[in-house]
Amino acid sequence: MTGRARSYNTEGVILRRRNLGEADSIFTVFSAREGKFDAIARGVRKPRSHMRGHLEPLTRSQLHLAQGRNLDVFTQAETIAAYRAVRDDLDRLALALYCCELVDRFTVERAPQPLLYDLLNELLEGLDSDAPLTIGRAFELRILSLSGFEIQLSACALCGSRIPEGDTLFSAMAGGLVCDPCRPKAETGRLLSVRAIKVLRFARSATIGQFAGLRLDEALEREVQRALADAIRQVLDRETNAGRYVDSLARPLRDTGRTAAGDVQWSPPSGS
Ligand SMILES: [Zn+2]
Repeated sequence: MTGRARSYNTEGVILRRRNLGEADSIFTVFSAREGKFDAIARGVRKPRSHMRGHLEPLTRSQLHLAQGRNLDVFTQAETIAAYRAVRDDLDRLALALYCCELVDRFTVERAPQPLLYDLLNELLEGLDSDAPLTIGRAFELRILSLSGFEIQLSACALCGSRIPEGDTLFSAMAGGLVCDPCRPKAETGRLLSVRAIKVLRFARSATIGQFAGLRLDEALEREVQRALADAIRQVLDRETNAGRYVDSLARPLRDTGRTAAGDVQWSPPSGS
């Protein structure tokens, strides 16, 4: 056994729900203290369930649980943040659910990841206020590094030598930027502009709120998005919903045939 108490309280974000039987549901929770876990809510699909509204996916709730033989059982749930503005906007909702799926895919059960928990809540709070959807890119970069898949942005991912300033090959397979002499050794990749590299480096150290203040024009955003989509795809199985979401974002890019390094504006972040 795990040595957990027979009943316990924890705060968490509901990542997803699947229904069980007539009226029960199993919820996947991501909690700061417990990590990711599944628990069952009995009777939650009955109209009169008092927990019903507090266990919707994306909701951040205070949860009371009793340890069960297989799955723990919710005994009480109270909403801390419902993120209503996210639910009212399809693009925000899609991005939030995608980020929840990334959390689900990048974590293992009962392994606390407080920094990732804070990051998810920063993202949801940003999406719930008027932060631009580009904060999803900062989330992608940070979840990769918090999960041990740090993208090499300072030194060559293959030989470790310093990367001179300029357009540089980005290879998800190699793990980041690749210096010119190493290019033949990188099997795949795309050329990234200096500005896109600066955005990625900024995302590595900035909070979601600071990244929200960065103005990216469409071409630059797509360049960053494609590089991160490569990196996420490299780690995740393409057939997941997250993979499909990444693909749906990337599709219009392939059709336009836009070059990676275009005429793009990069505004340095203020006050950082
Ligand atoms: Zn190299």
